[in-house]
Amino acid sequence: MSLGALYVVSGPSGAGKSTVCKLVREKLGINLSISATSRKPRTGEENGIDYFFLSPQEFEEKIQNGEFLEYANVHGNYYGTLKSEVEERLKKGEKIILEIDVQGGVQIKEKFPTANLIFFKTATKEELEKRLRGRNTDSEEVIQKRLKNSLKELEYEDKYEQVIINNKIEQACEDLISIIEKNGVK
Ligand code: 5GP
Repeated sequence: MSLGALYVVSGPSGAGKSTVCKLVREKLGINLSISATSRKPRTGEENGIDYFFLSPQEFEEKIQNGEFLEYANVHGNYYGTLKSEVEERLKKGEKIILEIDVQGGVQIKEKFPTANLIFFKTATKEELEKRLRGRNTDSEEVIQKRLKNSLKELEYEDKYEQVIINNKIEQACEDLISIIEKNGVK
């Protein structure tokens, strides 16, 4: 049985993880595992593409059934990685990027010690706030919650093996690609 490789990408909201991961996935043909969440879809988001959108009750049922590899409460909503999104693909030898919060990242490392933990951040906290506001999709209340959470996320940086400072998207993509190419399928 060949085993694939898991790359966990975490860091504060607004650090540009999603944009960079999407570009890198497209370039390298890597699968992003689709997470489940109990948060409501944002405009333009689709079920089964951006997330599996579940009600809190549906999410809790899946927790009870042991369907998650990891899950966490982030900004007041549940988010989790389904075993069905990861286990079979790993057995097939695929590389998978998990774009998840730091609580989930730590859980994955416990279960998969060979997982590569990559932390994304902006150069300064001011830059982070600017980007969160620039997204224009969230209310002030949500932005404040995310900013507070971001400060907590930053405390986990030293649990991560690699840090990418996302000043320029192109450079951040190159950094992530180089990490993935160095830590190939084992
Ligand atoms: P958003 O609501 O902006 O899509 O995501 C909010 C946060 O949830 C981000 O930090 C994102 O990385 C995290 N997240 C997304 N999917 C998962 C998941 O499956 N598990 C965990 N633990 N966090 C997730």
